Amino acid sequence: MLKGKGISIGIGIGNAKLLKKEEVEITDFKVENKENELKYFKKCLEEVIEDTKNVIEKLSGTEADIMNAYLMLLQDENLYKETEKLIKEDGYNSAYATKIGFEGVEKIFKNMDDEYMKERFSDIEDMKKRVINKIANISELDLSNLPENTILVGKDISTSDTAKLNLKNIVGIIIENGSENSHVSIMARTHEIPAIVGVKDILKEINENNRLAINGETGEIYNNPTQEQIDELKNLQKKLMEEKQDLIKYKDKGSITKDGFKVEVYANIGTPKDMIKAMENGAEGIGLFRSEFLYMDSDSMPTEEEQFNAYKNVLENAKGRQVIIRTLDIGGDKNLKYLNLGKEDNPFLGYRAIRICLKEPEIFKIQLRALYKASNYGKLSIMLPMISSINEIRKAKEIIEEVKKELKLEGTKFDNNVKVGIMIEIPSAAIMAEELAKECDFFSIGTNDLIQYTLAVERGNEKISGLYTKFNPAVIKLIKMTIEGAHKSNIFCGMCGEAACDERFIPILIGLGLDEFSMNPTRILSARKMIRKLDKKECEKIVEEILKMNTSEEIKEKLTEYVKKIN
Ligand code: PEP
Ligand code: MG
Repeated sequence: MLKGKGISIGIGIGNAKLLKKEEVEITDFKVENKENELKYFKKCLEEVIEDTKNVIEKLSGTEADIMNAYLMLLQDENLYKETEKLIKEDGYNSAYATKIGFEGVEKIFKNMDDEYMKERFSDIEDMKKRVINKIANISELDLSNLPENTILVGKDISTSDTAKLNLKNIVGIIIENGSENSHVSIMARTHEIPAIVGVKDILKEINENNRLAINGETGEIYNNPTQEQIDELKNLQKKLMEEKQDLIKYKDKGSITKDGFKVEVYANIGTPKDMIKAMENGAEGIGLFRSEFLYMDSDSMPTEEEQFNAYKNVLENAKGRQVIIRTLDIGGDKNLKYLNLGKEDNPFLGYRAIRICLKEPEIFKIQLRALYKASNYGKLSIMLPMISSINEIRKAKEIIEEVKKELKLEGTKFDNNVKVGIMIEIPSAAIMAEELAKECDFFSIGTNDLIQYTLAVERGNEKISGLYTKFNPAVIKLIKMTIEGAHKSNIFCGMCGEAACDERFIPILIGLGLDEFSMNPTRILSARKMIRKLDKKECEKIVEEILKMNTSEEIKEKLTEYVKKIN
C-alpha cells in the first residue's frame, strides 16, 4: 500500500491515467538520410494539423474562431521554412530543427508592435511543443475528455490544467507534490472527488490503467487492490454516505450557537455550476466566487457579455441571498496564457490580482461593467483581492466610480448600493484593519494566503508544509486584529479561507466574533452542526487562554481536546 496525505474525503475506485509532462531531450545531432528526415517532419506536422482540425470540428463561436486563426498560423509555410532548411541543407534531426526553426518565428512575433500579434508567440511555442512531441511519439493526455472512472495521477496539476478537467469522469486524484490548499485540492473538495497529495515517486509506482482504490481521508492508495480490500473500502464508502445523509437535517437550520449568537455560513464557488452544490448544502449566501476560473477556463479574455451571463446566472440561482464576487485574482500560481504575465522570480510576491487590475484598468473595467450590469439580478457584493494598502482601495473605488458614471451615461440600469469589500490576506492589511475598514463595506479573511504571507511559507510547497499552520499564534493575532478593526467601523467580517471550515478552528472564530464563515459547499453542514454545539461565552474564554499560548502545537492540542470533549 502507498500512502500520502488525504485532503478530500471519500473512496475512489477506478483506473489510473497518468498526467506525465515529459520533457523531450533535444540534441543537435545530424542525420544520414536528409530526405527521409524531411519526410518524417512533414508527416508529423501534417498530423498536428489534422489533430487541430478535429478539435475545431467540436467547437463553435469565439473558441472556433480562435482555433481557426491558430490553424492558419500552423499551415503558413513561413512557420516551418527555416526548420525545413535546417533539415534539408544542414542535415539536422527534425526535433532539433523544429526547436531552432520555430524559436526563430517566436522571436519575430515577440518583437512585433501590435499587442495582439505579439501575444501569438505563445501559440507558436505551443505548436513547437506539439510538433516535437509528435516527432518523439509522445501522446498528450486530453484532460477535457478522460474516460469514465479515471483516477488522475500526476506530479503536479497546475491551476490551468485544473480548469480544463472534465470532472464527471474523475473518481480520484493523486498528486506527488501539491498541498491541501492548492487550487486542485480546493476543487477536489468542492466536487467531492477523493484526493491525496504528497505521494513520493507515485509516477514510478503506478502504470497507466492500473486498477486503483484510494481513501481520501487516510491517504491510503491500493495499487491493484484485492477483492477483500475493495470490499472493505466499499463498506467505508457506505458509512460515509450514511454520515452525509445524517447531516442533511442541518440544511434548513440556523447557524446559531447554543447561547444565541447568530452567524452566516456561506459557500465558496469557482464556477456558476458550483451553485448547485452550494444550494444543495444549505448555503446562506456565496462568500467567495473565484471569478478567475472564468478567465482560466477560456483561451482568450472573457467578454463583458460572457462575464455578465455568468454573474447573472449565479445571482439568479442565489435567490436573493448575498453573493460576493471577487474580482480577477490572477498571478501567483494562477496563470493566464493569453495575458502574457511574464516570468517572475517570486510570483506570489509579484504582479498579481488587484495589482494587475489597477495597472491595466481596461481589463478591470470590463469585469466591473459586467458585475454592475448583473447587479440587477440579485444581491451582489464586490470583493477586491490582495489588498495591501489603503491606496489600492481608493484607486479601485475611483475606477468603480468611473464605470458607474459610464453606465449611467449610457442609460444602463444597475444597483447603486452594491457593497464593495476587500480580502484580508496580507499581514499589512490585517495590521491596518481599523483604518481600511473606514474605506470599505466588509472584510473577508483569506487565510490560505494570510498564513503563507505571515509565516513566509509558500502554500503549495510540500517540503515546508509542516510549517504552514493556521494554529500559529501570529496568524490568530492577525485574525483578531482584523475582526476587531471591522467591528470598530461597524462593518461585517467574514472568512473565506480554508480555516473557516476546520471544526477545531471554528470555536476560536466564534469566540472572536466572526460574522460570516465561507467554505467549500461540502463542508457547510458539518460546520453548521459544530456552530450549533458551541457556546459563544465559552469560546471567548478559550480565546483568552489561547492568546496566552506561544506555540502552534499547544494551541492545536488545546482545540483538538476541546472539540473531542463537545463532540
Ligand atoms: C485565501 O487566500 O484564503 C483565499 C480564499 O483565496 P485563494 O485561495 O483563491 O487565494
Ligand atoms: Mg488568496
